[in-house]
Amino acid sequence: MWQNYEGSDYVRLPRRFGNFGAMATTHITKRGFDLLRDPRENRGTVFTHQERIDLGIVGLLPPVISPPELQMSRAEMHLDALPTDLDRYVYFSDLQDRNEALFYRVLMHDPVKYMPIVYTPTVGLACQQYGRIYRRPKGLWITADHRGMIRDVLRNWPERDVRFIVVTDGERILGLGDQGAQGMGIPIGKLALYTACAGIPPQMTLPITLDVGTANETLLEDPFYIGTRIERLKGEPYDSFIDEFVDAVQEVFPHACIQWEDFANHHAVPVLDRYREQVCSFNDDIQGTAAVGVAGVLSAVRFKGERVSDQRFMFFGAGSAGVGIAELMSLVMVEEGLSIEEAHARCWLVDSQGLVTSHRHGLAETKRPFAHDHAPIDSFEEAVQTVKPTVLIGTSTIHNAFTPTILRTMAQNTPRPIIFPYSNPTSKSECSAQDAYDHTDGTVIFASGSPFPPVAWKGNTYIPSQGNNVYIFPAIGMAVLATRPRIIPEQAFVVAARALSELVTQEEFERGLVYPPLAKIRETSLIVAERVAEYFFDSGIAHAHKPASVHALIQQLSWHPPY
Ligand code: NAD
Repeated sequence: MWQNYEGSDYVRLPRRFGNFGAMATTHITKRGFDLLRDPRENRGTVFTHQERIDLGIVGLLPPVISPPELQMSRAEMHLDALPTDLDRYVYFSDLQDRNEALFYRVLMHDPVKYMPIVYTPTVGLACQQYGRIYRRPKGLWITADHRGMIRDVLRNWPERDVRFIVVTDGERILGLGDQGAQGMGIPIGKLALYTACAGIPPQMTLPITLDVGTANETLLEDPFYIGTRIERLKGEPYDSFIDEFVDAVQEVFPHACIQWEDFANHHAVPVLDRYREQVCSFNDDIQGTAAVGVAGVLSAVRFKGERVSDQRFMFFGAGSAGVGIAELMSLVMVEEGLSIEEAHARCWLVDSQGLVTSHRHGLAETKRPFAHDHAPIDSFEEAVQTVKPTVLIGTSTIHNAFTPTILRTMAQNTPRPIIFPYSNPTSKSECSAQDAYDHTDGTVIFASGSPFPPVAWKGNTYIPSQGNNVYIFPAIGMAVLATRPRIIPEQAFVVAARALSELVTQEEFERGLVYPPLAKIRETSLIVAERVAEYFFDSGIAHAHKPASVHALIQQLSWHPPY
């Protein structure tokens, strides 16, 4: 059918891209039908006549020889024709299974359009439907039955030089709760973004789901559920399972960094704390979110001509994300000269029981540093009126919790209030971008967790910033790949946040942005990676030797689709 394009730009492409065939055969180790069935080496109809002869695939492909751009257009045309985002997710998933280079070419061609398909929000629906859309394996499921043999299961993975493991136990998948073994969509999607945004070579990535059971009754009753139907492991059996997993990773993939992903709050913090000083590991929900939150505030205060320590912060929602941002923000204030106690005193938490004060009984350990010696306040509105924050960050999952009254109060507290409703998805956002502009008389400096359409305000159009963790984790990943640090100290996330915020231009800020445009994610990630790599080298925790040019090292390591 592509012959129909005769006379169009498409048929002229082979001449313009005349040498693509020569590039296509690099890294090819297989031959014949095996080659076409290997997604890592297959290039489909892009193989030239000579390559088809050399590789023993003459006759196994349709006769047409497609230029890479035409092959990409064909995939995009299929994607555009599909009725739903879940259908597009499945198409992308199939594409990854048959031609990995093409998968990444399409994804990287328009990350703003395709990241929401491959990752949030569509991946949430994909996890819920995983038992119905599952086709081919892309990662490892390690189950409670594998106790005592986890290292053997890891050895079943076909690649030997694994550098990145994203692992979930499926208990808190996005805002969707326990998805058990079906949480696998998250590590797969996240690792695709490591590759697309920072060029982590895909063969070095390994998605893992620890299937330790599920408490999700709907899944347990679903005949298509793909996990083991047991109660979730708890307490000591859970802890020793995780211990065995970490030990096995050290043995089988000694250079791998472990990224903990979508663990429930009651496990996320203890697991992060147990291993952060022992092995190269981090938790993106806590530390990546914190860095992106801090970066947004750093941009905002820079253009306001103020310092972070000039602000009074209120965090509405004191779970992993809220407390994580408060902790990292405090580190930044310490760098500005405050004591840690003074920094904590500038952060106020509000949770489901109201203002977090030192008079509370049974306060979680994580909230204690931020508990103020203050009379209890149950009402959020009253807390905003009393504390008078200049920065309000929402990580509560309570839709529209930032009421018009609260937004107006924020505008009375300070000339340019910083308001970040970070809860995802949009249906859980604490306020919309339009509401934030409307009820602060356009003075707001805004960023949200989920994307919002541009806002029209008094003849101007503002672009709401999205505080997407993708600004941070691929960059941290590339810095880790380049330096092989022993551990990932908290300071790395401050470095990443500073580097990210410094990339925002005055012109972008005036259009409403506190992060660089997402369309520039690849170049943004590599610049942030460079700064974090410099930090790893200079702080003496890198196993790799510092080269003359860290910039050149990062550029050289960054993977591109091989044709
Ligand atoms: P979590 O479950 O650890 O925390 C949620 C917190 O909100 C809990 O402490 C809960 O007590 C609190 N809460 C619930 N009801 C409340 C109420 N009525 N008033 C005040 N607080 C209330 O979850 P999390 O990992 O901290 O994530 C929270 C939200 O932040 C999610 O929607 C998540 O999608 C979002 N998030 C966004 C980003 C991002 O945009 N970059 C990153 C991480 C998390």
